[in-house]
Amino acid sequence: MANPYLKHLDRIEFVVTYACTGGCRHCSEGDHTAAGAHIDGNAAAALVERVTRLYDIKSLMTFGGEPLLYPDAVCKIHAAARDVGIPKRQIITNGFFTRDAYKIAEVARMLCDAGVNDVLVSADAFHQETIPLDIVLRFAAELLRAGIERVRVHPAWLVSADDDNEYNVKTREIIARFNDIGVGESDGNVIFPEGNALKYLGEYFKDGAPENPYDDDPSDIRTLCVEPDGSVLGGSIYECDITELIERYSPNGQR
Ligand code: SF4
Repeated sequence: MANPYLKHLDRIEFVVTYACTGGCRHCSEGDHTAAGAHIDGNAAAALVERVTRLYDIKSLMTFGGEPLLYPDAVCKIHAAARDVGIPKRQIITNGFFTRDAYKIAEVARMLCDAGVNDVLVSADAFHQETIPLDIVLRFAAELLRAGIERVRVHPAWLVSADDDNEYNVKTREIIARFNDIGVGESDGNVIFPEGNALKYLGEYFKDGAPENPYDDDPSDIRTLCVEPDGSVLGGSIYECDITELIERYSPNGQR
């Protein structure tokens, strides 16, 4: 019998790696290393194929860390999602995985060929403290040139998108640079107090803090979120078939 705790499952996410090229003060995950473990693209693609036999998956997302440190794994995942008919195939990237102009254009084409149809480029006052904006703008332009359906800058706002603190003012300037090359913006997200954000930006959360929007109710899993080490639903896709992990899952541990 289908597992009742996953009856609303309609989305798959992969944290491709926790390695990152950024060192953001607002990062909810804390500090990152420049290189590290990453998801096995073949195992991840097999998961996509198996889960869509059981559930009507409407969207898939890859993110990190910086997922494009491992573009082959990312592309295997998205190609599998396209082949099984998942309609929304997104990636969130900070847009900085190399300084090599040829490689930047190549990865943009790879993403388009793999069927990615929505790229969210994280850029704002915080990311650009450690990530060069000119490289990210170049990558965004290459994504458009490659023919990706939707490319948007995805800012992190402090307090709210309407607040006029110094970071948000700078973020608006950065968004305008993307708009100048034909890239629009998403609503972005409001920074919540976890990891580095709690450590370095605590003063902005004194009058109430936004909740982490990514928390899933463990008794009503809507998103399968797979970690770089293959762990999901209390097991690992490297040790066990995902269909078995789904069958066994319970909010109190495996059934
Ligand atoms: S916020 Fe994103 S780009 Fe910045 S350090 Fe964290 S994972 Fe990297």
